[in-house]
Amino acid sequence: MTRKNKARICIYLPLLVLLLCISPRLIAVYGPFTPPDFEKRQQALDDISKLSPELQALYQESPSFSPLPVPEKGDWLEGGAAGRADRYGQTVPQFVNSWSRHAVTADRRIIYIQLWDKELAKHTSLIDHIQTFTEAFFQLPVVVLYPEKKSTLDITSRTTEGHRQLLTGDIMNALMQTLPQDAYCAIALTRTDLYPKDSWAFVFGEARPADRVGVFSLARYGQMRSDPKYKNSPLKPLFLQRTMKVISHEAGHLFSLNHCIYYHCDMNGSGGLEEADKAPLHLCPVCLRKLHLAIGFDPIKRYEDLLAFYKSCGLKDEADWVTERLSHLRSQ
Ligand SMILES: [Zn+2]
Ligand SMILES: [Zn+2]
Repeated sequence: MTRKNKARICIYLPLLVLLLCISPRLIAVYGPFTPPDFEKRQQALDDISKLSPELQALYQESPSFSPLPVPEKGDWLEGGAAGRADRYGQTVPQFVNSWSRHAVTADRRIIYIQLWDKELAKHTSLIDHIQTFTEAFFQLPVVVLYPEKKSTLDITSRTTEGHRQLLTGDIMNALMQTLPQDAYCAIALTRTDLYPKDSWAFVFGEARPADRVGVFSLARYGQMRSDPKYKNSPLKPLFLQRTMKVISHEAGHLFSLNHCIYYHCDMNGSGGLEEADKAPLHLCPVCLRKLHLAIGFDPIKRYEDLLAFYKSCGLKDEADWVTERLSHLRSQ
């Protein structure tokens, strides 16, 4: 071997080693996404063998939980940089060690919902539904704050395609200013559209777990009432379903749950309303275990409360799903 060839090998060999090390990560991030298989889902759940039989039954795979569907072009995991970053997932041990986690304590356990618009505050039945659902979902007290209580900080806005949008970061900064002492977190709720930065068209909601604040908008969820001509017409099930999904999802982030890639789950990301509508309102075993570690609720009571809520507002698919879960858990 000539000295020149040796020199070439010296140059190329480290490059080849570097490429071999990096390429699986590049394929994982830029190639097509393959939903995790049973083994990976179990790894994400971590060892449950030392838990009580009740908790083991709660987290075991069952036909109630569907694996994440293979994403289509334009879906969250096949879309931009945010979706690609989510592909690594967040296992239960990673959640436990998450730097952004805050403890839920006896004197810091209230979820505050700050109504942002005066107009929204008039929709009393919607606000009652949001409060009851959030209490059932997280098993924590929920207090609704009316717009008079909000911070007077200026909120940056812009006009896009003829409608007004508010900058999410400014709203979350304002929430931090008024965060009550006993708040675990505060979430602003608005009917105005939102954007997180100039380069984005819009966002349904955003959360900052480290600061315990979040915001979500109902602007893109369509008609609120079944018959918009009548003020007392019942709330449309699709509108309610979308609202419950966004509040549980954004508040889930505030308990440091990242986007879920393990099952079809409330904590999946979404590339748009169509993908968000396909996702279920329930948490998968991995996310449920994270939330239980964060809050420590009675899982049966949580399902019972959710069932009562879903029945009361005609969310039949969700009520059927919880009924099946409860009968499965009670038969163990
Ligand atoms: Zn999210
Ligand atoms: Zn999940």
